[in-house]
Amino acid sequence: MLVCASCKTAFPVDRPRWRCECGSYLVLSASGMFSPGDLAGRPASLWRYREALGIEDSTPAVTLGEGFTPLADATLDGFPLKLKLDFLCPTGSYKDRGSAVMITRFKSWGVSEILEDSSGNAGASIAAYAALAGIRANIYIPQSASAGKAAQISMYGARLVKVPGTRADTARAAWNAASDIFYASHNWSPYFLAGMKTAAYEIAEQSAWNTPDWVVVPVGGGGLLAGLYLGFSDLLKAGIIRSMPRLAAVQSANCDPVYRAWLQGLSDVPGAEPKPTAAEGIAVAQPVRGKAILEAIRGSNGVVRTVADDLIWDSVEALGRQGVYVEPTAAVAPSALAAMRKEGLIAAADRVVVILTGSGLKATDKVVEHYAAQEPAMAGSGAPMHRV
Ligand SMILES: *Cc1c(COP(=O)(O)O)cnc(C)c1O
Ligand SMILES: [Zn+2]
Repeated sequence: MLVCASCKTAFPVDRPRWRCECGSYLVLSASGMFSPGDLAGRPASLWRYREALGIEDSTPAVTLGEGFTPLADATLDGFPLKLKLDFLCPTGSYKDRGSAVMITRFKSWGVSEILEDSSGNAGASIAAYAALAGIRANIYIPQSASAGKAAQISMYGARLVKVPGTRADTARAAWNAASDIFYASHNWSPYFLAGMKTAAYEIAEQSAWNTPDWVVVPVGGGGLLAGLYLGFSDLLKAGIIRSMPRLAAVQSANCDPVYRAWLQGLSDVPGAEPKPTAAEGIAVAQPVRGKAILEAIRGSNGVVRTVADDLIWDSVEALGRQGVYVEPTAAVAPSALAAMRKEGLIAAADRVVVILTGSGLKATDKVVEHYAAQEPAMAGSGAPMHRV
């Protein structure tokens, strides 16, 4: 069943619905659970955890082999840690976890056309899976979104609508069109969230079910964070793991509504006034699932931290020097980790996983601009020059 998070009205799972009549978001009531002994020989994708996805066995998956990304050993700021390379998903961001499951459900519902608003990555991801499923996609993104993401959306054959203004203006424009076309927002769909749980299952399985002490993630709409918490909770309930990792949620200092709500001890997230930030993928002024986000943080004994834009670029470069090329949004997590180590909050011996959410290749225009700003003489050539 699909159950309203607010008034608890239940809806059947066999027909299209994106929210409750009361305006609140829907959650999937109890899904199944896999058992670790059954996983050997299953596909190296998130579909190895199919029992937990809320998609019956008889429904064919719309899949590009997403998930089961490497959990790589690395060293940052002199400390060992593990990097979950989720930017290696088929469209270059972790959003494919959610899109694959959500579009699989839409196809089984017979949905023929969808509408989505996004900062870019979710739009690109949903456009790809919609193409695969034969569903027409209309994707709204901010005019300022990275060129790579916009190009991707067009390449997948979706109708791309660029909206001037903030991320919230983009959401409003999409809403106004949603009276005619099915609204496929990743920020609302319980199936998108079910896909996010698989990041937790993978981290646990790849750690031989011995969970890390900390998982550090960027937070915008909170899908990844809320999904991780649900996923680790499933594993705890089933007795597959023994402890819940502490979840560290990281936001841009220029758009930090979750941080403010957490500091003030609130149970939901009121909006915040956003300023422009290099972390475009998490510039969400008012997340839909505020309650679930705060529950995930408090329920895991987690924390929220913010990162300023100049430090984000430092982290992009530090990762680059480790052979890992991510977009600025993805770099907020390692950036906050460095600060949490300095605070003494994370001990040297703590086992830490950082999820790297988006590929640097998507933000090539922003990276070129960044280099150009550092070397004014080179501006316009487009070529980053570094003296050696
Ligand atoms: C969407 C996105 C995020 C934030 O994800 P939420 O699940 O909305 O909190 C983080 N990093 C990148 C690269 C993204 O595209
Ligand atoms: Zn309701």
